[in-house]
Amino acid sequence: MVKSSIQEMKLNRRGIMVVLSSPSGAGKTTLTKQILNTSRNILMSVSATTRQPRPGEVDGEDYIFLSKSKFSEMIDNDEFLEYAKVFDNFYGTPRAPVETALARGFDIVFDIDWQGAQQLTQAAANDLVKIFILPPNMRELENRLRSRAQDSDDVIARRMSKSENEISHWAEYDYIIINEDISEAIEELTTIVNAERMKRPRQPWLGSFIKKLITGG
Ligand code: 5GP
Repeated sequence: MVKSSIQEMKLNRRGIMVVLSSPSGAGKTTLTKQILNTSRNILMSVSATTRQPRPGEVDGEDYIFLSKSKFSEMIDNDEFLEYAKVFDNFYGTPRAPVETALARGFDIVFDIDWQGAQQLTQAAANDLVKIFILPPNMRELENRLRSRAQDSDDVIARRMSKSENEISHWAEYDYIIINEDISEAIEELTTIVNAERMKRPRQPWLGSFIKKLITGG
């Protein structure tokens, strides 16, 4: 399909950075995949991590799996936009792909924890939209962790105990979604992203469009 000039103008903007945080098992991955499938001009930031891949995880798609020494080297070279230690492993957002995508007008989704969200707030508050996903209750959270069947009982217990800490940061976020019903949660997420895109400062091309509009061009 040929793009109309208005569609082209809409690409001429700086993208938004959509941060999704939640305790493990609140359904964040499903939500993230959905928004990437259904929304246009939006990409996922692929984080680097020192944790071992889970069964089925693909290097370069789910994460960039790195050794501790390679991760430290990237820290030293200032190659991360943010990084943090979560559950004994390091996780970080490589800077270069994010900057390229934003400059090209793409929005980017980040699946990062509250520490990463805080660091991005300091680095790029104006471009940031922070969303926190909550489970309907803690029982449901544990069920979801167990049904994933990818982590040992020990890891699940530790993730549950960390959940409370993660949840305690809810008030640092712009939006809260309670994921009881996944389709409702997807609709809520899509609404947030669409509304944020329409904010006046995020449509810098409007000035010239309006000039043309009123001069009948
Ligand atoms: P998991 O090991 O379950 O994939 O992720 C554990 C936690 O690390 C999740 O809360 C996830 O949001 C967070 N995480 C993943 N990537 C990053 C990252 O690049 N930076 C930060 N700060 N947290 C991350």
